[in-house]
Amino acid sequence: LQGSSKALKISHIGIAVSDIEKSISDYQKLIGFERVEQVEVPSEHVKVAMLTLAESEIELLCPTSEEGAIAKFLRDHGEGIHHIAFDVADVSKAIEDAEKLGFRVVDKKPRRGAWGSVAAFVHPRSAHGVLIEYYAKTKR
Ligand code: ZN
Repeated sequence: LQGSSKALKISHIGIAVSDIEKSISDYQKLIGFERVEQVEVPSEHVKVAMLTLAESEIELLCPTSEEGAIAKFLRDHGEGIHHIAFDVADVSKAIEDAEKLGFRVVDKKPRRGAWGSVAAFVHPRSAHGVLIEYYAKTKR
């Protein structure tokens, strides 16, 4: 990968929370975001709030049922940082390349997320304990 930049920039940091309204309110008090957008993603069993501050975004993820990765994360770890997402031009290519290089991936194919985004995850065991998300969004 020398010389080739795979990702464009950090897209957002994903944080698993147990109460979406309380977490939005607390982060507004602590940080003060310019924009807050909320959506539910039934396929992932989560409510998502994207908090925007200039070029930076924080994604709050709150489970809507006992199913899904965020509910499991909360059971295993409690609230906290869940993943770091990087903007990439082509999520399919990014995850395929990671797998070809021998990294363990969570998704072999991109999944659809909130606001028409696509994403694919690299397993934390292959990434020094951090769940890495390759992310591309359409405008919202
Ligand atoms: Zn994310």
